[in-house]
Parts: sequence; C-alpha cells; structure tokens
Amino acid sequence: MRARRLAIALTAVAALTLGACSGNADEADDAADPGAAETETSEGGAEGTLRIGIKFDQPGLGYQDGSDYTGFDVAVAKYVADKLGYGADQIEWVQAPSAQRETMLQNAQVDMIFATYSITDKRKEVVGFAGPYFVAGQDLLVAADDDSISGPEDLEGKNLCSVTGSTSAQRIKDEYAAGTELLEQPGYAECVTALVAGTVDAVTTDDIILAGLAAIPANEGKVKVVGNPFSEENYGVGLPKDSDVCEDVSAAITEMIEDGSWQEALDENVGASGYVPNDELNPPTVAACA
Ligand code: GLU
Repeated sequence: MRARRLAIALTAVAALTLGACSGNADEADDAADPGAAETETSEGGAEGTLRIGIKFDQPGLGYQDGSDYTGFDVAVAKYVADKLGYGADQIEWVQAPSAQRETMLQNAQVDMIFATYSITDKRKEVVGFAGPYFVAGQDLLVAADDDSISGPEDLEGKNLCSVTGSTSAQRIKDEYAAGTELLEQPGYAECVTALVAGTVDAVTTDDIILAGLAAIPANEGKVKVVGNPFSEENYGVGLPKDSDVCEDVSAAITEMIEDGSWQEALDENVGASGYVPNDELNPPTVAACA
C-alpha cells in the first residue's frame, strides 16, 4: 500500500515537472495533490499540451499535409512525447523555421524542437539539446543535367541558395565564401524553386533534407543530390537551456534506437527518397546531457 502511494506521488511529481512545460499553474496545483493526479491525468500520465516545434516544409522529415504532420522528426517527437506521458492528441505542432528555433525556445513559445536541428557549441550557449538522434551531412543539390559541381570545391563562380540561420548557410560564409554568391531564403523548398527556375546553381543543406525535396513529384527528374557530404550534422532535440527533461528525452531516444522503432521510422519516412544514411554514424550514441 505504502509502495503504491509512493508510486502515485512519483507520478504526480512527474506530472508536475512536465506540466510545467506548458506553463499551466492550475495543472501544477492539481498535480501536487496525489489524489487529483490519479484521477485527472490522461492515459499517458501527463497533463496539458506539449508544444513541439517542427519543420512544416521538409518532406520525409517534418511536413504539414493538411491537418496531418509526417516525417522522421515527427515520428521521433511522437515516440519521445509518448515516453514522457503525452498522447498524440496532447501534442501541438508548431512551425519552427531554422532562423527562429533558438528564439522560440528562449521565449517559451515551444517546449521542445525536433527540426533537423544540429547540435552546435554556439547554439548551446542559449539553448539545451538532448540527443543526437540522427547524423546527417551537408551536401549539394544541383540540376539533374549539371556535371560541373561534384563537391564544395567546385562552387567558385556559382550562385548558391541556403536558409537563414542554418549551419549550412553559415558554413558557406565561413569556408566557401570566396567567389560564391549566397542567396538566403526562409526555407529549403524556396531554394529548390530557385534552382529549378535556374536562378541559382545549387542548394546546400543536409543530405537527408535535399533527398526528401528531390524526391517529391514536382522535382523528380529535375534535380539531383551530389552525394559528397562535407560536414557532420548531429540532430538534437532542442530544449530550453537547463531543461529538466533532457535526461528523459535522451533515455527515450536510446530506447527508440534499441527497440527497433528508430529504424522503422527512418525506413517509413525517408526510405522512399532513396537516401542512404551514413551507417558509420547512425544510429548515433546519445550524448550525456550537459
Ligand atoms: N541541420 C542544419 C541546421 O540545424 C541545417 C538544416 C536546418 O536548417 O534545419 O542548421
């Protein structure tokens, strides 16, 4: 009996911690009373809503399809949310464009972000990360009939497109700026439109993102991924700095990898694009929370 009381109290504490995610003081009060927690928590155990930032325009990763959200990031987010006690109907999906991710976490507009979000030291100064849950590499997308670009060393004199606030745009500015013109857009889909229209010679970002965009029917046969990655992008779950759910999120990712759901989600969402993950880097080993 005592043990059961303790279990209920612990559930209440968990609900209290996670309830704080959506900043609802009433929920926190309820959760402080074990009796209330027992009767009022949802099936999954947590109360309230978990606001998750994802991309809305990256097919196979984070994609809004009417009222449906699909992709590998979405699948990982759902798995993690479930482990934290949130059912699918308790998730609110929020668009998190590359340039806005840190601000959205800092301003508590979202509780966590699963959006092809690379873990970097610079970002770690202002936000927290759990993971990584995937490792991609920066690559190039060019016109299907273009044989003049086979890697970043061929970019001199070329017009490039990437996204504001991404590591992809930053790397071009830092390492390949000489003789290269960089157009910055809010999203990669806009960059692919510019490539198909002939306004730019190449789009650059992570290979897994480029593969997803290249595979949509509108772009099929018009563009190709070069396939010569020149960085390691460790996708993390963006969290507010000093978040107390980091350990739980990391544990959920490890479980997802170990129980086969990670591979299943990858095959289901990314397989059709023909993208082959780097199997020396994937699945990654989840790092300790800082
Ligand atoms: N993974 C890179 C980043 O986090 C590029 C992809 C993106 O913009 O989401 O900046």
